[in-house]
Amino acid sequence: PAQRISSFGGSVFTEFTTLAKKLNAINLGQGFPDWNVPKFVQESAHEAIKSGPSSNQYTSHMGFPMLKETLSKFYGKLMNRAIDPQTEIIPTNGATQALFSSIQAHVNPGDEVICIEPFYDAYPADVIMAGGIPVYVPLKAPKNSTSSHEWTLDMKEFEASISSKTKAVFLNNPHNPTGKMFSREELQQISEIVLRHPNMIVISDEVYEFITFDDCEHIRIATLPGMWDRTLTISSSGKTFSCTGWKIGWAIGPTHLINPLYLVQQWIPFCTTTPFQHAISLSFEKAQENNYFAELKSSYQRKRDIICDAMKKVGIEPVVPSSGFFALGHIKNLLNTFEVPDGESTDYEFSRYLTREFGVTTIPPSAFYCDDHRHLAEHYTRFAFCKSDPLLHEACLRLENLR
Ligand code: PMP
Ligand code: GLN
Repeated sequence: PAQRISSFGGSVFTEFTTLAKKLNAINLGQGFPDWNVPKFVQESAHEAIKSGPSSNQYTSHMGFPMLKETLSKFYGKLMNRAIDPQTEIIPTNGATQALFSSIQAHVNPGDEVICIEPFYDAYPADVIMAGGIPVYVPLKAPKNSTSSHEWTLDMKEFEASISSKTKAVFLNNPHNPTGKMFSREELQQISEIVLRHPNMIVISDEVYEFITFDDCEHIRIATLPGMWDRTLTISSSGKTFSCTGWKIGWAIGPTHLINPLYLVQQWIPFCTTTPFQHAISLSFEKAQENNYFAELKSSYQRKRDIICDAMKKVGIEPVVPSSGFFALGHIKNLLNTFEVPDGESTDYEFSRYLTREFGVTTIPPSAFYCDDHRHLAEHYTRFAFCKSDPLLHEACLRLENLR
């Protein structure tokens, strides 16, 4: 293998999904819904595939025109600006490829990219594959954190991590795995720091933008003064329409930041899967007519409450998320119930123990930290609650045996 991937191991998701399957455990690890895609989304795919060759053959590397139009209208309203469908939007193979392409398109070997911890695990890998250098800044949380709001970015530390080589920062808002949504004040402070550094851009990963709770407002950093020109906003249909396997994502931003992604796109997939781009375009239109987004939020908020209540009952202290479909739990009360072999980390061992002994799989969040900072997450575990109610209830029953 090439030297640039010599530090890569298997991803934490592969490890724990494989273990869950092997031991027949309920997989609250990897985040994917266990229900089928909503009917109107299924019908959109049928409609797209039946509609003719232009929806089934290669489309432009710049994206399927109809999806670009739909996204431009939809995000135009959300971001309160005109977005040019031709030059300011690129559909990609999931948010994952939008992240990869953003780095390929903007990062030179030796450039530094800031990854806020806990990070989505693709970020440092993307930077390394481009010959860049990930720089890590952990969110700070109080010892007995009970809410995702309490996880905050130390702005002094953030600014101190910027050097003359810094090209970008990954911002994940809403944030996986804490469920934090950055407040307007926090985004304002981040913006002011970024704007002080003329070569720096923000890659804002907003894939959980429509799964938000308790009337918390999701604010897009690209809408703050001066930030449109500095931001690539990335999202995906996977979470919004419960179709993680369709892999339709996109990046939105000013022409000077998006154009390099078009160049990269030609040589990665050439174009993104045509019928599913068409289908997601139709789905967005139908979703606005049928109140889908409000239902999505309330259904996930109910699931969040089910899992957080179950965690409390068995002495796992939940960090209650204000968005997304993950909840961190503090396992300090359970530390004497399982063995940690030398050289293993506590949270990995806890996830294995929970899978083996109780039939429920979680993700060890130290996977989302660099080696030097892994200890910060060792006493947490991450539950995914994107599961149908009966399965979630069954998982909660199994957890009761922990008491
Ligand atoms: N970013 C974050 C924060 C995620 O949690 C995920 C996937 N779960 C992705 C990006 C990848 O999105 P996609 O499946 O559209 O590639
Ligand atoms: N984003 C999902 C999670 O955090 C997993 C995606 C993947 O398997 N790469 O669980």
